[in-house]
Formats: sequence, C-alpha cells, structure tokens
Amino acid sequence: MNDYESRIERAKQAITEAKYILIGGGAGLSDAAGLKYSGKRFADNFAPFIKKYGFTDLYTSSFYPFKTHEERWAYWAKHIAVNRYEEPPAALYQDLLQLVRGKEYFALTTNVEHQFVKAGFPEEKVFAVQGDYGLFQCAMGCHNTLYVNESQIKLMVSDTNDCRIPSALVPKCPVCGGEMDTNLRHNEYFVQDKNWYQAERLYRDFIRASDGKRIVYLELGVGFNTPGIIRLPFEQMTYQNEKAALIRVNRDYPRGANENERRTIAFTEDMAATVAAINRSDRTQAIQLVSINKISGGKTMNKLNALNDWTKKTISFLAPKSAQGYLCPAMAAAGSCGSSCGAGGDKPKDEPKPGSCGAGDDKPKDEPKPSACGSSCGASEQK
Ligand SMILES: [Zn+2]
Repeated sequence: MNDYESRIERAKQAITEAKYILIGGGAGLSDAAGLKYSGKRFADNFAPFIKKYGFTDLYTSSFYPFKTHEERWAYWAKHIAVNRYEEPPAALYQDLLQLVRGKEYFALTTNVEHQFVKAGFPEEKVFAVQGDYGLFQCAMGCHNTLYVNESQIKLMVSDTNDCRIPSALVPKCPVCGGEMDTNLRHNEYFVQDKNWYQAERLYRDFIRASDGKRIVYLELGVGFNTPGIIRLPFEQMTYQNEKAALIRVNRDYPRGANENERRTIAFTEDMAATVAAINRSDRTQAIQLVSINKISGGKTMNKLNALNDWTKKTISFLAPKSAQGYLCPAMAAAGSCGSSCGAGGDKPKDEPKPGSCGAGDDKPKDEPKPSACGSSCGASEQK
C-alpha cells in the first residue's frame, strides 16, 4: 500500500467511525468541481466582454471599473447567470452528499454559487457565510431584506446588447431608491438577513451537539483569504477534541498545526478523485494517483501577516467557545497566527474578496455575537 492509499484508508476509517461530519468548502472546492474562473469556460461564456475589455479571467474582471451601471450590470448579470443559474449540480458536490449519508452532517462554505443545495444538501444543513450570487441587496445596506434575482438576471442577460443592458433594467433599491448590489461580502454593507442568522444558529447548534463527540472535519480547498471562517476554527476544534479527525484536501497548503498532526489526514491530490476514492466501498481497488505532498513550510508566517485587517479580525469568528482555549504557540509569541497554525498564503481566486464583516448595525439584538478570539489568535473582537 503506497502513501496515498494508506491516507485514503485512514480517511475512510475516520469517516466510518464518525458520528458527525462537518464539511468546510472553500474556493478550491468549486474550482475542483469544475466552476473554473479562467480557461475555456471563461472564454466560451464571456467572448464579447473579453473582446471589449480585454478580460483574462472572471476574478480580475470582477474588479473592472465600469463607466456606467448599464455596462457593470451587463457583466455581472452574465457572471451570475453562468455561475449561479446555468451551472448544473456538480458531480463533486453530489459525491460529498453521498459521503455524508447516514451521518449527522453540516456544510459550512465561503462559496456563493449555491452548489451544496443544488447537489441535494438540505438548506438547513448549509451555511453560506459569504453570501449568494442569487440574491440582491441594497448596495448601501439600507435595509436587511434580500431579493431573489433570477428573473432579473435572466432578463438582463437576454437584453444585453454590446455589453450593455437597457437603463430600465438597472436594479434600484425599493426602499432608498439607490443602487442594488449582489449579496456578496465584499464591503461593509453586506446584508445578513434572517435566513443568514438562522443558518448561523443551525451551524452553532451542530457545533454544540458534536462537541467532544467522534467527528470528522472535512476541509476542502480552503485557503487563506478568510481563514477565520473555516480553516482555523477546524484546527482549533480538532485540537480540542481527542475524538476528532481533520481531513484536509488542499493542493497547495495541506500542512496544519503541528499539535494536530496525529489526527490530520492531508491530501494534495486531485480533490474529485480523492473524494471518490474515500467514497469507494471496494477497498482493494488500486489507486493510481501520485502524491505530490507539497508542504508550504516557512512561507506561512509572512503570508498570514500580510492578510488584511478584516481577515485578522474574523479569525475565530465562527470558532466555538470550547475551542477558544487553544493557544497557538507561534501566535502567542508573534501576536498573529504563525506557522504552527499551518497558515500559508494562497489567495483563492474565486472567493469573494474580504471586506468589512457587515455584522454590525442591522444585527438583531438577540443574535449571538460572533465570538472573540480570546487568547488564541490575537484577533480583536468583532463588533
Ligand atoms: Zn437602499
């Protein structure tokens, strides 16, 4: 049995023995599932925009300073249509649903394409922390209602001419009359509505129920754009629970906290093949993939220190109280997360860029406050 097969067997065993599975899905998951932001998929869908603006991929084009609302919405309508409405359920997400069948499970994700739900995960088992391409909000967050945008988006796409939509289709806030925006956490006006808070509550309930129990944290393609949402809490919770295992699939940054090494099973191999191999019941089938096993090594400290303030503030944002006692030694020394947290520095290209947390003014008084980091990560308390 080679190294890869042996890790697959360990992962299978951990999942077999677990009562709970918490999936953490990052940008690398959607990329592995086929939602590519560059290459043929981009070229096929955005030819007029590539010709007009010289766009090279869907990530950088998201930052283009369009001169008019009509041009901006023509681009964004196409972006949302392609990634949210036209993309069918991805096989990799469906495989994940197969993998968690029979377990108590929950999916936490920074992805905004709604793929977990498309694949069949019940809405009440998914928390999309960073928003949803399928929802509009007031661009200034003047009220905390979100609006399903499917019919508007499809109309904008069908009526786009020379990379512009008709002025009459530019969406306006029904309350203040100002601009609308897609519900993505890219600035301080991100709206968290009652459904967002309900999903957060269900996530916390899951964390509470699984505390100290046999659980697998299945972390998929989670980089360091917003490590405080999935990656660092998963490390903390693994550290706190002797019965926990952390399965990490990450092409570039598989390495985690030294303290969790014994209970971490890391893969740098192809994610879809790895998930399929873990799912496969025939344990004797040979696995042909080659382990790359790149280790991020000493780059970690500098890269995490370069993260913006918002990201630092949200470290441990979603960590359970029980996990806050975990003191990362390098962090304690440096005042920020260091190499023993496994903090590397990749910046997934298709994650929403960090902005302000938006967890401020509109937040109902009775909602649980995002947890302060406590001693663990040197992160300041969020509003
Ligand atoms: Zn408004």
